[in-house]
Amino acid sequence: MRNRLELQEITRTFEDGGTERNILDQLSLEVAESELVAVMGPSGSGKSTFLSIAGALLEPTSGDVLLDGESIIGKTKQDLSEMRLRKIGFIFQSANLVPYLKVEEQLLLVAKLSGMKKARAAERAKELLDRVGLSHRLNAYPEKLSGGERQRVAIARALMNDPAVLFADEPTASLDASRGLDIVSMIAKQIKHQKKSAVIVTHDDRILPFCDRVFFLEEGKLVQK
Ligand code: ADP
Ligand code: MG
Repeated sequence: MRNRLELQEITRTFEDGGTERNILDQLSLEVAESELVAVMGPSGSGKSTFLSIAGALLEPTSGDVLLDGESIIGKTKQDLSEMRLRKIGFIFQSANLVPYLKVEEQLLLVAKLSGMKKARAAERAKELLDRVGLSHRLNAYPEKLSGGERQRVAIARALMNDPAVLFADEPTASLDASRGLDIVSMIAKQIKHQKKSAVIVTHDDRILPFCDRVFFLEEGKLVQK
């Protein structure tokens, strides 16, 4: 099985009052296709830094990140943003939908940015929204949706460009317990069905049964539990 995501000896240093602190310290991780990995850790342990580097939003001080085998190092800003568009889907704590776009349009916007053909985009948006159980809500505006429904739109939107890796930062934090589980089981189902990888940063123990491996971020490294 191929690795959709590889982090190779990632170190990230931040300056803190004149001294350098290693927030990530030679951290390595390989995530294969169809695999869902959870990363936990207390506040300040470096989870957001980890996710930003893995998602090609922040450069490591040293080390490399491979997305579907392609390195993020030495790329121009424009190449990197193009790479993010092709290879990565993000899901945030709140769905971050565009308030004045209908459900279906949220997905079509992403397709347009990446230059997907209109007919193909319309077909894919319908298919993805059907898979997350929202076929009946194509024309609803976000304000008419429940928190769980919004997060399901965010999942479908994150998959729209057929990315290699899905990154989720506390995707259940704004949802009640049963809806939270719903969302994570939906993410798990989609990444297995489409042979993607997913990395979920979470505080929520209840979602761990849906994850193939669970890591704690400790002293800049990932320790498997
Ligand atoms: P978490 O998401 O686990 O709460 P973060 O990755 O946000 O942790 O932060 C880890 C540590 O790195 C914290 O001590 C934070 O203050 C520090 N840090 C994060 N970003 C920066 C930055 N841009 N400049 C300086 N320090 C930072
Ligand atoms: Mg954080």
